[in-house]
Amino acid sequence: MHDIKMVDLQSQYLRIKEEIDGAIQHVLNSTAFIQGPQVNAFAQDLSRFIGGAHVITCANGTDALQIAMMALGLKPGDEIIVPVHTYVATAEVIALLGLIPVFVDVDKDAFNIDVNQMESRITPKTKAIVPVHLYGQCADMESIMKIAATHNLYVIEDVAQALGVEYTFSDGMKKKGGTIGTIGTTSFFPSKNLGCFGDGGAIFTNNDALAEKMRMISNHGQRVKYHHDLIGINSRLDTLQAAILKVKLNYLNEYEQKRNEAAAYYDNELKDISGIRIPYRVRNSTHVFHQYTLKAERRDELKKYLESKGVPSMIYYPVPLHLQRAYTQKGFGEGSFPVTEQLSKEVISLPIHTEMKEPELGYICQTIRDFYRG
Ligand SMILES: *Cc1c(COP(=O)(O)O)cnc(C)c1O
Repeated sequence: MHDIKMVDLQSQYLRIKEEIDGAIQHVLNSTAFIQGPQVNAFAQDLSRFIGGAHVITCANGTDALQIAMMALGLKPGDEIIVPVHTYVATAEVIALLGLIPVFVDVDKDAFNIDVNQMESRITPKTKAIVPVHLYGQCADMESIMKIAATHNLYVIEDVAQALGVEYTFSDGMKKKGGTIGTIGTTSFFPSKNLGCFGDGGAIFTNNDALAEKMRMISNHGQRVKYHHDLIGINSRLDTLQAAILKVKLNYLNEYEQKRNEAAAYYDNELKDISGIRIPYRVRNSTHVFHQYTLKAERRDELKKYLESKGVPSMIYYPVPLHLQRAYTQKGFGEGSFPVTEQLSKEVISLPIHTEMKEPELGYICQTIRDFYRG
């Protein structure tokens, strides 16, 4: 078995090459590289896909978080609750804006922010909660929305890893991840579930005034060209990327299905191996499997063994945020967030993408079986 990839963007492209190339050529012919008509057209399609919320496109998922926080009128020193087991971008923009990231440990099975530990971290300075739908599954949004309502907090959902995920409330109501809180943010980084051929991002909200404000912030704070009512930033989605995304969005449901098929194969083959735990599924969320993440005994040895057999794997994330030099906080060191610290030693993500073939999956599972038998 050769050339197994974590993510196979090349085969994915080749399958829809004609459509993509046509869309790119169309933009090249028009030379409308900034704010061309494809940007709005894609935003409209995406809005329909997520159930009708406003969509504001921007340059990347990190900017999306920043624009969201700028729009909420937060003041330096305000506290924002974030999971400590996440990608750095979530905490980065908080710190960048002079806000204080308040870390909360995650649930050991679901990998998402532990709602039972959240209220004890809320103070009079707390202004928002940023749940991250990590690896492709929703955080416990029903509890988070209740806590947010009780304490009058904004909720910014980071749905960069879970675009398309669906959450079901206990009354049966279903909503797409990223449209439940005050604002949702996502990324079109090439390896994300809906990826472009460079950087891209988007913001969701059902609030008309916030949508208008975020649209202005993302474009130098202007509604009318050269009239700057707000201090903004320059964060636009390129027309070329929008054209590519507009094509790929039509395949997102199929992509999600392919990822789920690969995950089901892994589940079935790996569930009985003592030494590893297959991904836990929460009851009220679908899973879009941005990552297929195991908890593994002797994780580092397993990773090396897989590598020696030509199977790539990744650790998301090897160092928890509170132990990163840039994000250390007084009073929080080794031992402060035991679940996240344990996960940083146990988690391992296997190859998962839209082009996985059964022989490949079979080989990966056999290799893991050999390791734990050996
Ligand atoms: C990828 C990612 C981001 C950042 O997206 P970029 O487009 O790379 O800026 C933010 N949050 C999470 C959870 C991510 O996975």
